[in-house]
Amino acid sequence: MSTLSLVPLFWFAGGCGLLWLFHARTLIRLWREPALAAPVVIVESDDWGPGPVEDAEVLDRITGLLAGIRDSAGGAPVMTLGVVLGKPDGAAILADDCGAYHRSTLDEPRYAPIVAAIMRGCAEGVFALQRHGLEHCWPDSLLGQARRDAGLRAWLADPGARSEALPPALQSRWVDAAVLPSRALQEAEIRAAVIEEAVLFRRVFGDAPEVAVPNTFVWDDVVERAWADSGVRWVVTCGRRYEGRAADGRLLPASSRILNGQPGSGGVGYVVRDVYFEPIRGHRAEQVWRAVDEHVAVARPTLLETHRESFIAAPEVREACLAELGRALEGLRQRHPDIRFLSTAALAEAMHLPGSPFLLTGRLRRFCVFLRRLLAEPVLVRALKLSGLRFVLPPLVRILSRV
Ligand SMILES: [Zn+2]
Repeated sequence: MSTLSLVPLFWFAGGCGLLWLFHARTLIRLWREPALAAPVVIVESDDWGPGPVEDAEVLDRITGLLAGIRDSAGGAPVMTLGVVLGKPDGAAILADDCGAYHRSTLDEPRYAPIVAAIMRGCAEGVFALQRHGLEHCWPDSLLGQARRDAGLRAWLADPGARSEALPPALQSRWVDAAVLPSRALQEAEIRAAVIEEAVLFRRVFGDAPEVAVPNTFVWDDVVERAWADSGVRWVVTCGRRYEGRAADGRLLPASSRILNGQPGSGGVGYVVRDVYFEPIRGHRAEQVWRAVDEHVAVARPTLLETHRESFIAAPEVREACLAELGRALEGLRQRHPDIRFLSTAALAEAMHLPGSPFLLTGRLRRFCVFLRRLLAEPVLVRALKLSGLRFVLPPLVRILSRV
């Protein structure tokens, strides 16, 4: 063999060496990330909680819609509900001149139809509850801002006001955003709030969920440890963690990149939810289908992020959103006959259970998935291009896939 013919080999080996040298940690994490044997899709819907009785009606509509769709194992799509157990009692807070906090919670009789509708969906197997805060704000942050902000006092004065209309920075529950930039909360305060939420969950729904969704994806290790100590095992993330709000209210730069199955503080495990599907914002079923194809190629689950806001709009808008959700799920079932609909807790369990039938087996198949993950990883784009691997790996994956 001439020296010249060995050049591509040296080049390839050098590229791999450089990739390892600069990105070893990412490569190890991508290899360790669980690989799924079949497409898994979950609809995650946040912000459900106190509201008018019409919310109960739409929850029943969602239950009916989901119960009519079945995967290959006979399971219906699961919509996880990120439950917010309460909201500020604006009238009482204003009566106190914003001097003390008062709340209205789901255990009040006026919210009984909403609780009953949620329970019906759980009994049908189409709803699974997740923690999303006792309120969608930190009470002292709200009070602090309300003393200075007439707009916020107007929000408090409106009995029909929803948490979705709060300023974005205030919607981050796990930081003190009374004054921006935000500050970290005291650990004792966080622990007391987490326990209070779990106690109320048990009173309203009989149990406290094992899955938590940080409001606006702002949280830290202290929150994770408090969650873990109160029974949380899994934390839903967007693949990033944010730890605060800047002076202009925007999220601070993400502090870390997160992959499925990665452990957090206190022994919690992460699940990544990174497909935004909000029909009320114009997102269409076709976008969901494309995203699921991309996730299936790298053996990852697809968690769709949606919110109550898509389903509490005016009736004609709400109907259109429901129809689009149904079209997205029905289309997925047709495109992926082996699709499985799971709850996030069930998925997380499966990803952590060695030998689970949901996990891909065989080193070669896992290696192909690993190579596809490399090609899809944003942080590796530059290194793959410079090393030339960006052009070598796709044909290699195709050849290996045929073996
Ligand atoms: Zn939320």
